[in-house]
Amino acid sequence: MAEFLGGWRRDYRCGEVTEAMVGRELTLMGWVQRARNMGGIIFVWLRDVSGMVQVVFKADTLPADVYAMGEALRSEYVLAIRGQVALREADAVNEHMATGRVEVNVREAKILNAAETPPIYVEDGAKDNEAIRLKYRYLDLRKPSMQKTMLARSQVTMAIRNHMISQGFAEFETPILTKSTPEGARDFLVPSRIHAGECYALPQSPQIYKQLLMLAGMDRYFQVARCFRDEDSRADRQPEFTQLDLEMSFVEPKDVQTVVEGAFAAVFKEVKGIDLPLPLPRMTWKDAMEKYGSDKPDTRYDMTISTVNEQVRGCGFSIFEQAVEGGQMVCAITAKQAADRLSRKEMDALGEFVKTYHVKGLAWMALQEDGTVRSSFAKFFSEEKLKALLAHMDVQPGDALFLIADKKPVALTAMGQLRGRLARELGLIDQSKDNLLWITEFPLLEWDEESQRFQAAHHPFTMPMEEDFGLLETHPEQVRAKSYDLVYNGIEMGSGSIRIHASDLQERMFSWLGFTHEEAWQRFGFLLEAFKYGTPPHGGFAFGIDRLMMMLTGADSLRDVIAFPKAQNASCLMMDTPSAVPEEQLRMLHLRFDPQDKA
Ligand code: ASP
Repeated sequence: MAEFLGGWRRDYRCGEVTEAMVGRELTLMGWVQRARNMGGIIFVWLRDVSGMVQVVFKADTLPADVYAMGEALRSEYVLAIRGQVALREADAVNEHMATGRVEVNVREAKILNAAETPPIYVEDGAKDNEAIRLKYRYLDLRKPSMQKTMLARSQVTMAIRNHMISQGFAEFETPILTKSTPEGARDFLVPSRIHAGECYALPQSPQIYKQLLMLAGMDRYFQVARCFRDEDSRADRQPEFTQLDLEMSFVEPKDVQTVVEGAFAAVFKEVKGIDLPLPLPRMTWKDAMEKYGSDKPDTRYDMTISTVNEQVRGCGFSIFEQAVEGGQMVCAITAKQAADRLSRKEMDALGEFVKTYHVKGLAWMALQEDGTVRSSFAKFFSEEKLKALLAHMDVQPGDALFLIADKKPVALTAMGQLRGRLARELGLIDQSKDNLLWITEFPLLEWDEESQRFQAAHHPFTMPMEEDFGLLETHPEQVRAKSYDLVYNGIEMGSGSIRIHASDLQERMFSWLGFTHEEAWQRFGFLLEAFKYGTPPHGGFAFGIDRLMMMLTGADSLRDVIAFPKAQNASCLMMDTPSAVPEEQLRMLHLRFDPQDKA
């Protein structure tokens, strides 16, 4: 039976009781973490979001009905007590508890609510599986670590908001019922009741609205924005997620980057107490690909990639020679002090690993400390060429060398993956580092083999670099964009760009992307028209707050930093959504499901 507060008021939260309060009478309320009945004395750990404190029911000092309440307590009962703060006996001090030097001797109590035995353990480190944790998320969220993460999340959004406001930005909300935004994912659709046969789309981002706000003269916009992308489930994706979205007028990339890195610095200061050195380093996309084999390089360790076409030209090994002559690339990395740690079997496993990135194979060499050489290719090389290659790659006794020959982007990507795997396996990653950097000058367009046409590498509103305008008609694939990504320890945190602000260029962009004039106007006519009425140059950025929280808290999954996340298969196990709806509701929406589609 639930009880009412009946005039009781809480004085402090459980974790706030300190030694300075000894002797004071106070009222506390919270959940019973556990109650230990020692016969005549009952120790109860009372918990709330601030922490835990021990409250004590003593049979010899309490009326029988109050003591009986202590006896009735079970885990997760909601309890209110009135009592006096006391110092614990020296041998009863609990150093593992923040309030472990004190306890509260109960004088009066109220069981505000009973609780059935919880289906999961409400304590950190419990081994319940994730499905049951998600089903009983409200209990899972009672765990101290989960509460800490959620409170940190609130702090992070507050730090971001404060920073944005201090930089002259204003927060605007944009619609959730909208039209498709071309961010490259599938839309969630909402069928309209009023307009039979028509749908709204949930926004993949507020992209178009924020650009229109710049047209509207708002100058500096931001929003802690919810975005929706119907993507196939992957470990690090959620169908709905939150990003800090911003847009500014009359700016170049550096201006946007300065605001964004300022927001990151504010967050790092708030959550980690770290002063992030600003400005953050910048690296062009081309350098990132050539040195790290990735557009989101992890710069916490070196082991960078070298192009060795010149070193292997005429080396005697036909695979390399043919690659160089055929216009492909041969790239290499040296793994320091790795020779002894990689057996033949492991080398073969690495070879299989790179093949999954579509290269034909991996050439390797281990120069043992004693000077002996194990290698998949050295025997084919002329001695002189091998020496020159080893010198170029700074291969010393104890080191291992890896080479890949293939088409440039494929070879670099595979080598980048190998670099990451070796770093993890050889323990080269300094986990204490927070390496943030900007990757700039991405290609504007990407060739899509499947559709046999170009796609926007960022999104179709991205401005080409002025220097590359001349290439737009002749070599569109070589055109660089005024776009930039922020990368944190090898993870992409967000991206942005300067936007096209001319209607005619925007229309040409749509035509490169394969839209006919009619299609472009049908889908984006409102925007193309809007651009005719005095659009300021503008640009912006967006970064994922869920991902940032995951990095800051060291969580393994996005689900651990979102209060009510979707499971891997995009369903909510707690509310059991998506779920069937009554026929009547479907009819109102002018929908009929094919019975064959039923799960
Ligand atoms: N709308 C983009 C995104 O969500 C970011 C931007 O260009 O501002 O990735």
